[in-house]
Parts: sequence; C-alpha cells; structure tokens
Amino acid sequence: MKKLVLATSNKGKVREIKDLCENYEVVPYTDLIPAFEIVEDADTFKENALIKARAVYEALGDEDAVVLSDDSGISVDVLGGAPGIYSARYAGENASDKENLYKLIEDIKAKGVTSSPAHYTAAIAIVTKGVERTVHGWMYGTVITEVRGEKGFGYDPMFIPFGFDKTLGELDDVVKKELSHRSKALRLASKVLKVL
Ligand code: IMP
Repeated sequence: MKKLVLATSNKGKVREIKDLCENYEVVPYTDLIPAFEIVEDADTFKENALIKARAVYEALGDEDAVVLSDDSGISVDVLGGAPGIYSARYAGENASDKENLYKLIEDIKAKGVTSSPAHYTAAIAIVTKGVERTVHGWMYGTVITEVRGEKGFGYDPMFIPFGFDKTLGELDDVVKKELSHRSKALRLASKVLKVL
C-alpha cells in the first residue's frame, strides 16, 4: 500500500483523512520525524496548505515521499468572512477549539443576531517530486449562537449544514463524511493522487 504522509497531527483531521483515503497507508509526519513549527503566513487557504506540504516534504528528505496537507476554516457572513484563515487561532495563538468556538459565538451575538449564513473551506495540497497540486472543497450552512452536540471538532457544535436541522455536533459522523468541505476536497485529492 502506498504511503501518504500528512502534514498535520490534528487528531480530528487525521481521523477524517484516514477514513477517506482507504487505499493509502496514511501516516502523520510526526510518526516519521520530530514535530517542527510551520509558519502559515500566507493569506489564502491554498497558499497556507502549500506552505505546510512543502515544509514537510523538504524536512522528510525523501524525494519519493507524497505529502498531503490541509488548511481549513470557517467563514461567517455576518462577520464579513471572519475568522476564515484565522479559524485555528481566532481566540489567540494557542487557543483551544472550545475557546475559538465561544469567541465566535460571542462575536456573532455582538452583531445582534443569533444565526448567520456561514461556510467551511478546505484547501488540500499534494507535494511530491516535481509536483505541486491543490484542490478545494466547501460546505455551506448556518451558524447558531448555541452549542449543540458533542460530535466532530472545532466549530461543529454550532454549524448546521444546509438541508439539516441539527448541528454537526449532533449529526452522525457518516453524514459529515458525505457533506464536509474536507471530504469534497479529499475526493478530488484522491483523483490527483491516482494520476501522479
Ligand atoms: P488549520 O488546522 O490551520 O487548517 O485550522 C483549521 C481551523 O478551522 C481549526 O480551528 C478547526 O477547528 C476549524 N475547522 C476546520 N475544519 C473544521 C471542521 O470540519 N469542523 C470544525 N472545525 C473545523
């Protein structure tokens, strides 16, 4: 089975990527080399994904390695698209998922509303010898100023996908696997991987 090195050690993402890339041996890069800091200072999801994948590819020192990275976040209409690329550090540099979630709820409430259209974006970069590719996926829905359910991670307990009346915190993982921005991007990424 071909090895796919992930430029992330976020447990939620590793689990989702493993589930969706069944034809690969999916390995977080930290299983192969020590973790190191990657400064994601670009202003798009796509460029930040490329920064991560390039950094891990170079650090591995194996030109045949295939590295996959993902950069993702949530954009809330009533906040003009925030937190967007800042989703992971919305409540501060080392903020937890819970701190980010509650800050987003407070900021939406501060606009005098209890819900807003919102969407998740995922950019995936694939880097290997002489090749750099990127793909995207999106999931649209509504964010509410209430936390419902324990499933998923990050902003999932406040996000209701279009066509549903429950949050991703309440909906079954199988539903998220069908709908999610990352699933959509990963389906495209797996097509890219096949023709490398
Ligand atoms: P990244 O690790 O730099 O891509 O940051 C992603 C940020 O967006 C984290 O704060 C996540 O909590 C949030 N995020 C991305 N995808 C999802 C998702 O599927 N559910 C919930 N939060 C997500």
